[in-house]
Amino acid sequence: MSTTQNKKIEIIKSATSKINEVDFENLSFGAVFTDHLFECDFKNGEWQTPTIKPYAPFLVDPSTRVFHYGQAIFEGMKAYKDDQDAIWLFRPDENYNRFNKSAVRMAMPEVPEDIFMNGLKELLKIDQAWVKKGNGNSMYIRPFMIGTGTGVIANPSDNYKFMIILSPVKSYYAGEVKVIVAEHYSRAANGGIGAAKAAGNYAGQFYPTNLANKEGFQQVIWTDDATHTKLEEAGTMNVFFRINDTLFTAPTSERILDGVTRKSLIELAKKEKINVEVRSVLVDELVEAANNGSLKEIFGAGTAAVISPIVGFSYKDHYYELPKLENSMAADLKLKLTNIQNKLAEDTFGWTVKV
Ligand SMILES: *Cc1c(COP(=O)(O)O)cnc(C)c1O
Repeated sequence: MSTTQNKKIEIIKSATSKINEVDFENLSFGAVFTDHLFECDFKNGEWQTPTIKPYAPFLVDPSTRVFHYGQAIFEGMKAYKDDQDAIWLFRPDENYNRFNKSAVRMAMPEVPEDIFMNGLKELLKIDQAWVKKGNGNSMYIRPFMIGTGTGVIANPSDNYKFMIILSPVKSYYAGEVKVIVAEHYSRAANGGIGAAKAAGNYAGQFYPTNLANKEGFQQVIWTDDATHTKLEEAGTMNVFFRINDTLFTAPTSERILDGVTRKSLIELAKKEKINVEVRSVLVDELVEAANNGSLKEIFGAGTAAVISPIVGFSYKDHYYELPKLENSMAADLKLKLTNIQNKLAEDTFGWTVKV
């Protein structure tokens, strides 16, 4: 793990604010950004002075490594404002640790904890008016790092830029989600980068997802690359299956991203005395459960939507529709988790961290 550096953040405030131009009731996800960003460059083997400055485009050389060799990683997390106007993060240490795991896998430098955490907290304080309270409001936080060295030489970059940008969001609703179970394409492979939050994992998903869209499905349920028999993730979310009253989700692996929402839901469900089994569910089991009526729910889990219910799945050109339930575990767990995140319910897990 990286050492701390305790460098003072240089702050350059924006002369004006865009906040009055924003319609906070009609935000589309990840489209609007706050007045400031956090930035820290890595040069000559060292992290430079961390800076908070006005949000703005920046110039880079066309030969910048990230464009050619794809060293790019990111995180996605949220901050919430409670009724007393305090701002809270949800398990930020998990995102920090995962960011550095991704960095190591992509041969990028680890970001020191104080740069990541202090940068994030200071940025949230400076743009605190943008964090709205109540009714599904939150601040989506996007830390990311790119290789900024120049030259079309297929080596790891020598320079990097770490940034954090903030985007106010409303609760995310993906509409009715129907999925296709992948029979050919893969999101990740053993020995690959599937466990890293690497930009390239997303690029690789777009084409098979487009094909699914053309057939009327919103997302792909990814299966293991070797046999396509094990269910692994849904789109860019971890995936849960409810068969009778047991929740199943695959164990994390080199192919499956270790989601903070996933692990929180597992703990929350256990506390609610729901039977949870962390094991791979086979496509055959899913089809059988759908056929005999024991398959009750499928849902994706991730920071953006928290829980995204799936209404049906297609496999080998057959569509299986899920029942519409009165008492859905997805809805119940989502409410319980968002209540903790929004400080509307007691956080007995110690997950929330005050900014
Ligand atoms: C980010 C991500 C998730 C969800 O992780 P959270 O920490 O819950 O937001 C799941 N799968 C993939 C592939 C992801 O990139």
